[in-house]
Amino acid sequence: MGRGLAYAERDYPYLLNVPAVRLSADSADPLQFLRFAQRHMPHAEGEDFLPRALYGAYLQDALLRAEREAPPHTRLQRIFGEVRRVTPHASDNRLTAQFADRPPITADRVILALGNPPSPPHAWAEAVGGHSAYRQDPWNLPKTLGSEHAVLIIGNGLTMVDVVSALTQGTKGSPQLYTISRHGLIPQRQTSFRATNVQGDRKAFLACGDSTRRLLAMARELARKVEQEGGDWREAVTFLRHLAPSLWKRLSAAEQRRFVRHLRTHWDTHRHRIPPQVGDHIADLRRAGKLRVNAGRIESIVPQGEQLRVAWRARDGDTAAVTVDLVVNATGPDYMLKRSADPLLSWLRGAGLVAEDALNLGLRTGQYGACMDAQGRASETLYYLGPMLRADHWEATAATELRDHAERLAAHLTGNLPGELPRELPGELPGDLIEDLIENPTEGLTEGLAGGLTGGPAGMA
Ligand SMILES: Cc1cc2nc3c(=O)[nH]c(=O)nc-3n(C[C@H](O)[C@H](O)[C@H](O)COP(=O)(O)OP(=O)(O)OC[C@H]3O[C@@H](n4cnc5c(N)ncnc54)[C@H](O)[C@@H]3O)c2cc1C
Repeated sequence: MGRGLAYAERDYPYLLNVPAVRLSADSADPLQFLRFAQRHMPHAEGEDFLPRALYGAYLQDALLRAEREAPPHTRLQRIFGEVRRVTPHASDNRLTAQFADRPPITADRVILALGNPPSPPHAWAEAVGGHSAYRQDPWNLPKTLGSEHAVLIIGNGLTMVDVVSALTQGTKGSPQLYTISRHGLIPQRQTSFRATNVQGDRKAFLACGDSTRRLLAMARELARKVEQEGGDWREAVTFLRHLAPSLWKRLSAAEQRRFVRHLRTHWDTHRHRIPPQVGDHIADLRRAGKLRVNAGRIESIVPQGEQLRVAWRARDGDTAAVTVDLVVNATGPDYMLKRSADPLLSWLRGAGLVAEDALNLGLRTGQYGACMDAQGRASETLYYLGPMLRADHWEATAATELRDHAERLAAHLTGNLPGELPRELPGELPGDLIEDLIENPTEGLTEGLAGGLTGGPAGMA
């Protein structure tokens, strides 16, 4: 218990995408993870990108320590089972959790901390779901592939990077790799930038929080200035991400929609970056022609004996196809509550106890993650903690953001936050293009920002 999908022990040593010094599970003790890591890896330094499995061991250790150090009246009981329903009592406002295969539990408060939902259902997956050359689980890959094989990875995000890393480390040589996503943008590379270097004009950003276009312009300007002064655009992104929850709340529904439609992918690829060594490896593979990144929409996947033939329509309108020995689903989690296949989430939604936001980013929540019901009322007993907080905070996926939400919720539930309004959470803002403009003046930015914001082909209405 404690590792989850992200920090499980796996055959391949996937790396964290955040330096050790910024990953403490306790905001009051920022070096806690680094100290733990140094006990196992004496040469580890704060700026190192360490194995995710080590972070999993650290989280388990933190849980054990919390349990050991808890006051006598506090007890942690681990229960293994799948919760299918959470039902409020009409009489006393308590909740009962019903399990698939064990007796129910009644509680005063319930926190839904369900992690990442599975990836969305794809029409193309139906035809190949049971085919031996298709992998729905991107962390369960065959070990028999070598340079004579070809692989298509569907998705261009962090999961794709995991798949590429694992498939290119074997002794049999790297397979020929293809990737595809709608935009064809892949995560940017981390550097040893100074995270706290930029103190931008918060007031000025917040004052123009009603316009994605103006925010974008300011963000680009800030990144440009940082670079002109010898800094790194990532410093500007860090500044912006801390401001993002406040900015997100200030955007109108139309502006939020505009951001999601035109800038989301750009933001995500600049905000959620990959460790430098992984970034270098990806760049080497691309230079050598072993990794080809495509932009387009899958039209069909058809079995051809032991292989699969995948056809897509590229962004420029052309059609393309490859025949491969393996297709890997790396499309990432699906936060669209209304089509969730998760029995608990779909039951809660059906019962009106939780509700999605208008943009289908996640769950509507109030203060401290209190679930909003279908009528928009914040629950006093049912809470949510996890990436679907994005609906109200924009960015809530990285470990330290979730840690901050968790600390605030814990303080609230234990009465240690009397009357205090939540401080602003770290998060993000539509600033992504910033970096694109600087790094690839003619690529992603131009398309997403320039095209998007000026009403070009992909433009905003
Ligand atoms: C592959 C991957 C890599 C990541 N890497 C990084 C990184 O390098 N840096 C970073 O900052 N962030 C990273 N993240 C993001 C973030 O740190 C994780 O998403 C975070 O671990 C989420 O923790 P969680 O407890 O919310 O979810 P999880 O760790 O997924 O735990 C959810 C738990 O809930 C259980 N559960 C779900 N439904 C039910 C049910 N109905 N009944 C009972 N139990 C249920 C699950 O079995 C699981 O045990 C990564 C995420 C992923 C997926």
